[in-house]
Amino acid sequence: MTSFQDLALGESLCRAVLTAGYENPTAIQQQAIPHVVKGTDVLGVAQTGTGKTAAFALPMIERLAGGGKAIPKRPRALVLAPTRELAVQIEACFAAFGPGLGLRSMAVFGGVSDRPQLARLARGVEVLVATPGRLLDLVAQKGVFLDRVEILVLDEADRMLDMGFVRDVRKIAALVPIRRQTLLFSATMPAAVAGLADSLLTEHVRVEVAPVATTAERIDQRVLFVSRENKRHLLTTLVKSKEASRTIVFARTKHGANRVAEHLRMEGMTAEAIHGNKSQSARQRALDEFRSGRVRILVATDIAARGIDVDGVTHVINFELPNEPESYVHRIGRTARAGRDGVALALCDAEEVAYLRAIERTIRQPVPVDEGHPFHAADIARLHQLPGRSGGPRPPQQEQRRPRRRRPVSRAA
Ligand code: AMP
Repeated sequence: MTSFQDLALGESLCRAVLTAGYENPTAIQQQAIPHVVKGTDVLGVAQTGTGKTAAFALPMIERLAGGGKAIPKRPRALVLAPTRELAVQIEACFAAFGPGLGLRSMAVFGGVSDRPQLARLARGVEVLVATPGRLLDLVAQKGVFLDRVEILVLDEADRMLDMGFVRDVRKIAALVPIRRQTLLFSATMPAAVAGLADSLLTEHVRVEVAPVATTAERIDQRVLFVSRENKRHLLTTLVKSKEASRTIVFARTKHGANRVAEHLRMEGMTAEAIHGNKSQSARQRALDEFRSGRVRILVATDIAARGIDVDGVTHVINFELPNEPESYVHRIGRTARAGRDGVALALCDAEEVAYLRAIERTIRQPVPVDEGHPFHAADIARLHQLPGRSGGPRPPQQEQRRPRRRRPVSRAA
């Protein structure tokens, strides 16, 4: 089995990694670390939960170590992340392993005062983790200069584009020296991300792990057919089960998330909603309470959930199915992290059957049906079984491009 020592990481970093409890490198770490250490550009297709943060952070630390004193306002590495939560989480990885090799790091993001951020930048850090908007504000104030950046990382590039950051990202990339190492990580590779990668990376290596199906396989997924009226009752039954000790419930809209959280509280459970209408500090507070176990249920929208890194999530419940199948994959990836198992339940009403079909095409497997609940709606289950009904969304692009394997005539009959 490959060890961290085999991946060209120095001895002290290897020791630190072992002390942190990482026994063996994950698949993305095995693939990416040797290239990043050498200075090669890397395009990484990997989801959160695969260990991708350490896959870029560890070799970056190795490369940056021993570079002398940090220059005020001029970081040597810049990591862009779509959300504050993700930025904080990435910085935590640099903070865990960097100081041992004399590297300082910090995260900057919007929604909080820029003063402490400016002060810290003025003292100098080697690694800056930033959300694009706040970074550009700080650049405009001459609080930071990007002309000494040696390594540029874009994490969760697909989310970054979804959230409308493409222009900001391009502006930032234009401020970074052309001669640099660039790493781009994304859970999915739609055409827009591939285009961005083409324009930012030079002679890159592509590494890819956990194709959607593999991650999905580790998770015990089930779909529960239920009428819209009964969804709340079913949800109550599900979250009351003892095994569901740390549950994330997904809703499609902010109002939906609020209503679900309110309903669960009325039923006597501890639940908090997080979504884009809440202030950063309210979101962080809800997240901390969930992490500590004071709150058992977090009700989230897709955007708010991006980058949430909470270990030990036992259940993900899709109270409403997402209309983008890739969001489903992101959602269920919140459980079964770092090799653990998890349960992902999808509550599907009659109008969501088409979404379910699109999800099944994306993960390339049917989601097993759970009929053993008190609100099972057999008519919706039948609707789902009907072959080739129209109305379902078109299959995602990469599926369309895959050549179809022909079945032998005898079996097709
Ligand atoms: P990420 O995909 O970067 O969000 O990482 C998911 C989780 O896996 C984080 O909680 C990491 O601390 C943890 N992790 C990363 N690498 C390893 C490893 N080699 N062994 C065990 N856990 C790891």
